[in-house]
Amino acid sequence: MERRGKFSVSVAKDYLVFASAHFITFAGHRCEGLHGHNYRASVTLDGELDEETWLVFDFVMLKQIMRRLCDEIDHKVLLPLENPRLQVVEDGSSVTVAYEGKPRYVFPRVDCALLPIPNTTVEMLAELLANRLQAQLESMGARGVTAIEMEVEENFGQSAVYKVGLR
Ligand SMILES: [Zn+2]
Repeated sequence: MERRGKFSVSVAKDYLVFASAHFITFAGHRCEGLHGHNYRASVTLDGELDEETWLVFDFVMLKQIMRRLCDEIDHKVLLPLENPRLQVVEDGSSVTVAYEGKPRYVFPRVDCALLPIPNTTVEMLAELLANRLQAQLESMGARGVTAIEMEVEENFGQSAVYKVGLR
């Protein structure tokens, strides 16, 4: 039988959450104050069926990877390293944050996640998690996955989705 459709697998679990602090900068000279969200991540993988297992990707493995990615940034202050208005500097066991040259915060280094993104919007967090998941899939030699769709929600009904094809 010829198969005409395509498959995808998704995980969205109660434990795929990260409770983290952040603030974002807006256009012009506006910068939010520090606050937190209970973020939730969910992911969909498009892919081809494995010929031996008839799976696109093993759920157990996908859940483990996603949980680790969430744990890495759980209970942290999320700080963007590529924002031209923010100066985020590691200083021994502290991280100092200045906005347009004016000192704003000092955090313990262990409580920070320094992220290679320009702003800690859910859009950028979704892209970051998708990139980290892609790197993990590549290191495992997972070949059948053709696209990642990562969703990060910062509030009920308020989320961003990043979708990327892998070839
Ligand atoms: Zn926020």
